[in-house]
Amino acid sequence: MKIFTTIFQPNYSVKETKIHDNMIEITIISNSKQCLCPKCNTPSFKIHSTYIRKVADLPISTFKTTLYIISRKFFCTNSECDLKIFTERHTDFVQRYQRRTQRLNKQIEKIVFVLSAELASKIISQLFTPLSADTAIRIIKNTEIKINSDYTEIEIDDWAFKKGTNYGTLICDLKTRKPIDILKDRNLQTIEGWLKEHNNVKIITRDRSLTYYKAISNVIPEAKQIADKWHLLNNAFNVLKNILIRKYSSGIRIKINEAFICNTEKQENKKLTKIQQKQQERLFKKHEKIQEVKYLKSLHLSKSEISRRTGLDYKTVTKYLQIEEMPDLKTIKKSSIIDEYLDFIKEKYQDGVFASEIYKLIRKKGYTGSERTVRYHVSKLKIEIDSEGQEKEREQKITLEKLIELLWKDVEHLKYSDKAKLETVLKNKSDLSRLYNLIQNFKIIIEKREVDKFINWLKEAEESEFKELSVFVKGIYNDYKATLNILKTDFSNALLLGHVNRLKTIKRQMFGRAGFELLKKKVFYQI
Ligand SMILES: [Zn+2]
Repeated sequence: MKIFTTIFQPNYSVKETKIHDNMIEITIISNSKQCLCPKCNTPSFKIHSTYIRKVADLPISTFKTTLYIISRKFFCTNSECDLKIFTERHTDFVQRYQRRTQRLNKQIEKIVFVLSAELASKIISQLFTPLSADTAIRIIKNTEIKINSDYTEIEIDDWAFKKGTNYGTLICDLKTRKPIDILKDRNLQTIEGWLKEHNNVKIITRDRSLTYYKAISNVIPEAKQIADKWHLLNNAFNVLKNILIRKYSSGIRIKINEAFICNTEKQENKKLTKIQQKQQERLFKKHEKIQEVKYLKSLHLSKSEISRRTGLDYKTVTKYLQIEEMPDLKTIKKSSIIDEYLDFIKEKYQDGVFASEIYKLIRKKGYTGSERTVRYHVSKLKIEIDSEGQEKEREQKITLEKLIELLWKDVEHLKYSDKAKLETVLKNKSDLSRLYNLIQNFKIIIEKREVDKFINWLKEAEESEFKELSVFVKGIYNDYKATLNILKTDFSNALLLGHVNRLKTIKRQMFGRAGFELLKKKVFYQI
């Protein structure tokens, strides 16, 4: 029993314990014989009367727990004190007038901050003690949250109160990656007002909105502005999408050489047992995951954020980030030195060139394998093409969505069959081939942070046949310095985007019933 009471509160004794339904009721009393008068601090032993305070506590096992604290009233023995009778306090575990212990309040606080008021009310009532949604909101309002004001590097981005109509601004500390402030809108005046009060800020990463640019330039012109990489890449993606929507809204039809695909696929899986194939697939997937994790890290996402986005656990993320060399994929590809000449061989074969001649031609191109291998492939072509009189070609439709994916994704992230599709598309559509090169180069330049190449790319893209690209480039010229800073510095808004997402979630769960101040508190609260 002693241990039992120590868990509750040292210096208290348990007088009675009752268990009924799913409730435990514990009556306790302080062991102290005396009590200090709160007014004059004189100790008193003279008890006037007792009464019982009923307080909800944390549950024991699955039992809701109520403490009945026998509280005493004392006479003040100091004749000069005008407080004649005072009440014993238990402030080390329950505040005055509170009907819940502090430890219970702490747990309740966590729940009301992460869940909607309605849901929090339900869960808390089920687990601990009845609590209304209104009380849940009051708890948030009454909780003080300290925000660090010692920052000089910030991230700033907008977020939608109501998509398309109503936008606010979210500001985070670039160092701690925690939210600092939320503004009700993203108007020039509001942003300027905030910056005037925080004019010691030296570095600001921001999205590519002109308002933020103007506000910062007006108020803190000496601050270094960095546009956000994620926004820039996202804008480039939208450019690609819009071009494809304009030119190929109903997708395209291409003729895919089935023999080519089957042949190469067969070759790829040659001599592998099913188990080996499975192993390879797993390895390949792991390879992709590692790349994804490393990419997200390059956006300066925290490990826990990466873990959330990839669905990998924290440990795995840590492990992947430590991997310097990728797992060996050679076993997967089983590539042969003749692979890169297969297209050429086929082309020549169809032109009627003999195997021995083809062998000579590809040797000139750098082929170092044997003539026998060339003959083997030529004979295979003979079977595939000649035996059926013609090549098996199959017309396939590539939807707009697929086309966007093919042209945007890094080629190493494409499935094998998609690689073949992409190859065919690029061969047959020269405009798409030009667009593909521009977009992929852009991504590589941004990733590798190559300033000179970026400047050249801008010229090339501006003069390209794609008007959407020249508009995009003009936008970059309007925000040139901050965009170049993406390549020159190490900052990124990626984390703030995580907070924007959190903000959206919080906003959604609040059903708009709670005011702006409440929303702010929820965003700033850290569990
Ligand atoms: Zn007194």
